[in-house]
Amino acid sequence: MNFLITGAAGFLGSSLANQLSREGHLVRGLDDLSAGDPKALGPDVHFTRGDLSDRPKLWTLLQEVDVVYHLAARVSVPESILYPRDYNNANVGGTVALMEAMRDVGVRRVVLASSGAVYGDLGKQPLKESMTPNPRSPYAVSKLAAEYYVRTIGGLWGIETVSLRIFNAYGPGQHLPASHPPVVPHYLKQAQRGGTLVVHGDGTQTRDYVYVDDVVSGMVAAATAPNVDGLVINIGSGRETSINELIKCVQDVTGSNAEVIYSPKTSGGVSRLCADLALAKEKLNYRPSIELEEGLRITLKRDPRFK
Ligand code: NAD
Repeated sequence: MNFLITGAAGFLGSSLANQLSREGHLVRGLDDLSAGDPKALGPDVHFTRGDLSDRPKLWTLLQEVDVVYHLAARVSVPESILYPRDYNNANVGGTVALMEAMRDVGVRRVVLASSGAVYGDLGKQPLKESMTPNPRSPYAVSKLAAEYYVRTIGGLWGIETVSLRIFNAYGPGQHLPASHPPVVPHYLKQAQRGGTLVVHGDGTQTRDYVYVDDVVSGMVAAATAPNVDGLVINIGSGRETSINELIKCVQDVTGSNAEVIYSPKTSGGVSRLCADLALAKEKLNYRPSIELEEGLRITLKRDPRFK
């Protein structure tokens, strides 16, 4: 099959692109390199630097493409609180621009990388796709709006759509910016170099940490699964882990007893997030297989930044 992946130079995009290309598919990747690194891509992935708003470029890249994976986005919850307009432009405007180009060229299916963050604080866990979302940050709102745009424009123009609500993915190659880094690689790095681990709140807030290869297996399945048009489907581990438990795990795998500091809770944070995977199992035959401790050990082993 022919694929276009937006955000292909990013953490999830590059893992997906390399997997599809290993399976023998033709893979094109688009990324503006605002965060990604094209060196993460294998030699058979056709990479183009560019922005989602570059319509002529999208028209060219979409020729003969069967399925588009839309991963290009700004991805930090705290950063979105500071710069909501940028998040709206990139994540909502970018998605609409891509859907317009897909409408013009004619593509069979789009798989959107949405987020478990759209659920926000609902109290009840695990989170099912049938629950009404309660987003708590501009990032979460932008992902929910992208879901609606993809499904609505897709429905109007006969493009099949699947939105995957990915929970907290981690693994080798995850982007580690100096400000607002994702928690897993940040804690691993801090623990390894004997730094402190800062917890916002009391550490009882929970997340569903899912290893990158499991996420990729769900994304691959979403390209060809039957009877998924218009659906949103959770992709997580199905395990709820508190920040305190994550820290214990990080200390175990790094062999460090890094100091933990508790600071006031930040805004936009959600107290509990854990995916219900029944729909993913039914529609995508999705079976996550890597436990957190194992995933952290593999990350330490495979990611040269932790050597
Ligand atoms: P990432 O930052 O590594 O990848 C996103 C990529 O998109 C980057 O390479 C960036 O350069 C690119 N990009 C941003 N704006 C662009 C634009 N306007 N045009 C072209 N390229 C652009 O992040 P990731 O963790 O790989 O996330 C990929 C997708 O999965 C995102 O849509 C994110 O919202 C979603 N997601 C990720 C997680 C996670 O835990 N990693 C969880 C839920 C959802």
